[in-house]
Amino acid sequence: MKAAAFEVARPAVLADVAALLARPGASVLAGGQSLGPMLNLRLARPAVLVPISHLGVLREVSETVASVTIGACVTHAVIADGGMPDIGWNLLARVAEGIAYRAVRTRGTIGGSLCHADPAADWVTVLTALGAEVLTTGDRALPLRAFGVEITEVPITPRRVLTALMKARVPA
Ligand SMILES: Cc1cc2nc3c(=O)[nH]c(=O)nc-3n(C[C@H](O)[C@H](O)[C@H](O)COP(=O)(O)OP(=O)(O)OC[C@H]3O[C@@H](n4cnc5c(N)ncnc54)[C@H](O)[C@@H]3O)c2cc1C
Repeated sequence: MKAAAFEVARPAVLADVAALLARPGASVLAGGQSLGPMLNLRLARPAVLVPISHLGVLREVSETVASVTIGACVTHAVIADGGMPDIGWNLLARVAEGIAYRAVRTRGTIGGSLCHADPAADWVTVLTALGAEVLTTGDRALPLRAFGVEITEVPITPRRVLTALMKARVPA
């Protein structure tokens, strides 16, 4: 089966995303590794897809003494390849390299995994257990545990976009 027809509205900058998502039936597209199959099976029928993976600001990684902040569109492959600071035990790279196979890891993003919120997903389980926080547009920070509840209870089209994930270091 193939996806139903949809429009693509590509934002130039993050600030454009909210307005595009306000269009009827609009939905965020990150790596497409979960949404793509849902489109093809017609389990999701967005009228407008708003791709965000090309936005550089969503692929940034920063570090303080206390935490590492990972942009929502950092891919599993970048994390598996050690492209970010180690939070302890090389944990993030070890989790990432266990996700699916290389082609999925190359496109799939850490933010997409958290927003898809499959309770069996690797990042959902590990990062909830570690007490990670998520940042959404407007720089609102909330615990991943609360975010998971919120996105399964609000309508499927997110008006707010996950921008980054903030992870405290693993205790030695
Ligand atoms: C063959 C296969 C095997 C897999 N195996 C595993 C596995 O072993 N372990 C595992 O954990 N996962 C696995 N996955 C899932 C994979 O990790 C996906 O990458 C992930 O679930 C979704 O990330 P994505 O970037 O592709 O998101 P997309 O598919 O683009 O989006 C998923 C959902 O999240 C929303 N969304 C995405 N980004 C944002 C954002 N920043 N803000 C707001 N909403 C957003 C979208 O609107 C959509 O509803 C597998 C997938 C496939 C196809």
